[in-house]
Amino acid sequence: MNAPTTDQLPVVVVGAGPTGLAAAAHLVDRGLEPLVLEAGPTAGAAVRAWSHVRLFSTWGEVVDPAAEKLLAPTGWTRPDAATYPSGGEWAESYLQPLADILGDRIRTGATVTGVSRTGRDRIVDADREQQPFVVHVAHADGREERVFARAVIDASGTWATPSPAGGSGLAALGEKAAADRITYRVPDLKDPVVRGRYAGKRTAVIGSGASAFTALASLADLATSDGGAETKGVWILRRGISGSTFGGGEADQLPARGALGLAAKAAVDEGHADAVTGFRTEAIERATDGRLVLLGEDGRRLDPVDEVIVLTGFRPDLSFLDELRLGLDERLQAPVALAPLIDPNQHSCGTVYPHGHRELSHPEQGVYLVGMKSYGRAPTFLAMTGYEQVRSVAAAIAGDLGSADRVELTLPETGVCGGAGLFDAPDAQEGDGGGCCAPAPQLVQLAAPGTVGAAAEKAPAGGCCGS
Ligand SMILES: Cc1cc2nc3c(=O)[nH]c(=O)nc-3n(C[C@H](O)[C@H](O)[C@H](O)COP(=O)(O)OP(=O)(O)OC[C@H]3O[C@@H](n4cnc5c(N)ncnc54)[C@H](O)[C@@H]3O)c2cc1C
Repeated sequence: MNAPTTDQLPVVVVGAGPTGLAAAAHLVDRGLEPLVLEAGPTAGAAVRAWSHVRLFSTWGEVVDPAAEKLLAPTGWTRPDAATYPSGGEWAESYLQPLADILGDRIRTGATVTGVSRTGRDRIVDADREQQPFVVHVAHADGREERVFARAVIDASGTWATPSPAGGSGLAALGEKAAADRITYRVPDLKDPVVRGRYAGKRTAVIGSGASAFTALASLADLATSDGGAETKGVWILRRGISGSTFGGGEADQLPARGALGLAAKAAVDEGHADAVTGFRTEAIERATDGRLVLLGEDGRRLDPVDEVIVLTGFRPDLSFLDELRLGLDERLQAPVALAPLIDPNQHSCGTVYPHGHRELSHPEQGVYLVGMKSYGRAPTFLAMTGYEQVRSVAAAIAGDLGSADRVELTLPETGVCGGAGLFDAPDAQEGDGGGCCAPAPQLVQLAAPGTVGAAAEKAPAGGCCGS
């Protein structure tokens, strides 16, 4: 039997999260065959890990058009577009039905451990691009498998690789040894066991993004609830407090995202959390009573805490892509053409230029990092960005460059602009008024493939802040 030609091979999609499943839907829509490999036991495994967290995007902003087109004949209807799903609802009411439709195109319990060109390691040029990709898979039952692919879309996210507490990006000294009292997730305080761990306790929250805001607000709720008295947050910030510290508030075009920052501010204002600014954690020591003491690079020692919640962002796992020739930005570990558009040193307003297959391409033809993973270490990724990325990538793999290049997306702005969202001298007051500089863009509704044109026409190109 003749070996299949490369074009007869599937497109391997790594990860059955929102972006990976959308990629599969767009590939099917293009008459291409996807094979989605998901390490977890179910589709949406990472999203299910934060089931208890309510999204700050509405249903109207987290359903992919090609997925909706695939789901519609089954009688599936999108929940009220103006309401906000939790991670669990997103997984149960959208990701799982979509995975069910895609059927055996998805393999769960299948961890991708390596991707390369068949018979060509990273060095070898000889007719490299004529070789199909070879993908190594470790199955949950211990089997290993090689899968061949015409292209590879890596939508494996960054959930599995949270950043550490250390102010230098490394795990702080003693951080690993203190793992029993440290979590890298927003705790589910509705779970009685988890609640017991934080109720009446002093908890450090390290980080300054949406997840840190969520953790601070939920600790404040606990403090004002039955059995939660004495619950106290200690908010650890590398920066000083300024107009943008709590996000864009009412200026945020995602009101629920803005509300997160305001809830965190209320937690501080109402005394449920103390903010410790300009603090870069260097070491975590254990006190004689087993509690943890955080030491700063500037020599400060904080009063002991019972628990530490580290929410300092995520970073991509690139280990299984080592045999490929990727073009990644040295700061963000994001594709070099995308990085300048999302670099938090330059941008904090959340806008990003419409981008697609070209910005997501690498020296290695036919491989794309998409979704949360495409942002590398940069914050502010939104699901709708991933959906537009995979629409463009699927069109490019199908050879429809016209459609692939016609990327259309305008993102709701955070309401805070001005770069250097990461580092400054403690207590230095930032001059910005916190407001956003560009006129409010028209939001583009995610429409079924082929009907997007009109909507995009209305949207002004680009965002703010040097764009
Ligand atoms: C708490 C939280 C709240 C968020 N809220 C919003 C919001 O309101 N609005 C918004 O637009 N965005 C939000 N996001 C950001 C983003 O949209 C989500 O993280 C989204 O889940 C990203 O989708 P993804 O498919 O790119 O990655 P993921 O959802 O992380 O999916 C990646 C999948 O790949 C699998 N995987 C990983 N490694 C491998 C491997 N080696 N082999 C096989 N499979 C693998 C994982 O198990 C996972 O299922 C939020 C993120 C978090 C963490």
